[in-house]
Amino acid sequence: MKILIARLNHETNTFSPVATPLASFGDHGPTYGDEAYAASKGTRTGIAAYIDLLEQAGHQVVVACSATANPSGRVAAQAYTHLSDVIVAAAAGCDAIALDLHGAMVAENSDDGEGDLLERLRAVLPKAPIAVAFDLHGKITEKTMASSDIVVSFKTYPHIDMYETGAHAARLLIEMLNKKIKPTMAWRRLPLLSHTLCSRTDIGAMHEAVELARAAEAAGMLGVSVLAGFSLADIAAPCISVVVISDADQEAAEQFADVVAGFIWDNREGFVYASETLAASITRAQELAQQPGAGPVLLLDHGDNCMSGGTCDDMNVLHEALAQGLQNIVVGPVCDPEAVALMIQAGIGATVSVAVGDKVPLTQLGITTTPRVLTGLVLRLTDGEYVISGPTYTGQRIYMGRTVLLQLPQALVMVTETPQEHWDLGIFSHIGIDATKHRFVLLKSRMYCRPVFVPIAKAVVECDGGGVTSSDYSRFPYSKLDRPVYPFDLATTWQSQM
Ligand SMILES: [Zn+2]
Repeated sequence: MKILIARLNHETNTFSPVATPLASFGDHGPTYGDEAYAASKGTRTGIAAYIDLLEQAGHQVVVACSATANPSGRVAAQAYTHLSDVIVAAAAGCDAIALDLHGAMVAENSDDGEGDLLERLRAVLPKAPIAVAFDLHGKITEKTMASSDIVVSFKTYPHIDMYETGAHAARLLIEMLNKKIKPTMAWRRLPLLSHTLCSRTDIGAMHEAVELARAAEAAGMLGVSVLAGFSLADIAAPCISVVVISDADQEAAEQFADVVAGFIWDNREGFVYASETLAASITRAQELAQQPGAGPVLLLDHGDNCMSGGTCDDMNVLHEALAQGLQNIVVGPVCDPEAVALMIQAGIGATVSVAVGDKVPLTQLGITTTPRVLTGLVLRLTDGEYVISGPTYTGQRIYMGRTVLLQLPQALVMVTETPQEHWDLGIFSHIGIDATKHRFVLLKSRMYCRPVFVPIAKAVVECDGGGVTSSDYSRFPYSKLDRPVYPFDLATTWQSQM
C-alpha cells in the first residue's frame, strides 16, 4: 500500500515574543519529498521509525515533509497554511497516513494546529486509517480524536523515546491495514493545567501515571498515553489528557481511561509546581553553597528557557544573585547580539560598560525592562561552535553565533548571538570555562541541562526569574482558557464517565 508520512513539530508558547516563520522549521527551513526522506532515515525520531517499519512491512512510503522548529510564539499563518497544504496535497491516492506531530502547535490562523490538519486529511481520505505519534506535551482535541484512528505519545520526559513511539504507532497501523486489529479509542481530558517541571517521568505523579499506562498496555490495551499538554498556550484547553486504544473493545478502553485519568485527578496537586520567590531561591542557593561537598550550586532559570519559548535574555536571576552578594558565578548564554557586537568592537582586554539582556519586550505579559548596564573586562571571544559529547544529541555540532565572555567582579557572563539550550558542558568548555570550578552556575534551562550538569553539581536550585516560560501561571493573561480549571479554580470538579 501507499502510505503518506509527514513530520510537523512545534510546541507553541503563545505568550512568547519569539517569531516562528517558515524558516524556523529546520536548519535551512523544512525539507520535502526525497530530501525529507533522506534527512529523516536513520535518526532517532518518530518519522524514521515510520520509514523503517512501513518499508519492512512492504509498503511504499511517500514523505510529504519534515518540519520541526524550536518552541516559540504562534506559527506564522503563511508557514502553517503552506505546511498543511503540502501534507494534504501529498495525501492524494494514499491508502493510509502516519504523522509525527508534536501536538502543542498553535498558529496565527489555528488554535488547534494538529486537529485542523487532521480534519483536512480525513476529509480528503475518509476511509484511510490515520495514525499519529505525539510528544508527551501534546494537547488532544475533539478534532484530533474525530479524525484519527491511532494516537500514541512519548512516555518519557526528558524525551528519549521518540523512535519507540513512532514504532508503536507504525506497528498498530500495519496490523490495522492487515485487518488483524480494529483499534477503538477512549479519551479523557482533565480540567488541569499541568506544569512542565511536574511532567518529568522519573519521579512524582506523572511517573506513576505513566506506570499505570504501561500496566494497562501489559494488560492488553494496544496503547495507553498520558499527554501532559502544554499550559503556556492561550487556547481553550491546553490540558492533560489520557488516550487509550483497545482492540475493538470500547468498554475496556473507557474503563482504563477512567482508571488513569482518575489517578491523575486524585493526585492533581502533584502536577502543580509551587514557585518560591526569586529572592528566597537565591538566599537558599547561598546557604547550600556553604554546605560541605564538591561542585557548584546550579541555579536553573526555568522562567526563561529557550526550549519552551524563552527569549534567553531575562536578567532577573543574575541581578538578584549580584545584589545578594553571590561570588564566583558563571552564567550563560545570555542572548544579546547587540551587546556581542559592541564588545567585539571594544576588543579583548577592553573594559566596557554595556547594557546586556532584557532587550526583547515581553509584550503579552506587559513587561518591558530597561536593560541594565554591566561593567567588566572583555575576556574571550569564540565563534560559538562546539560538538555535543553528552547523552542528548550526541555528536551534533552546535552553532551559537559569535560568543563573548565578560568578566565582572562577581561573575563570568557568556553572551551569544542566538538563544541556546544547555545540551552539554561544551557550551562553557569551548570558551575555556570549567563549570566544576565555579561556586554557582546559572543556566537558562529547566530539564535538558540535567543529564550533564546535575552530576557535577553540589545542589540544584530552581529559580523563577519571571520570563515567558515562568512556572507561575498567574502571570499570564489567558483570555481563551476554559474555566473552571485547576489550579486556578481550586474547586474544579471532574467525574469519571463509567
Ligand atoms: Zn515535550
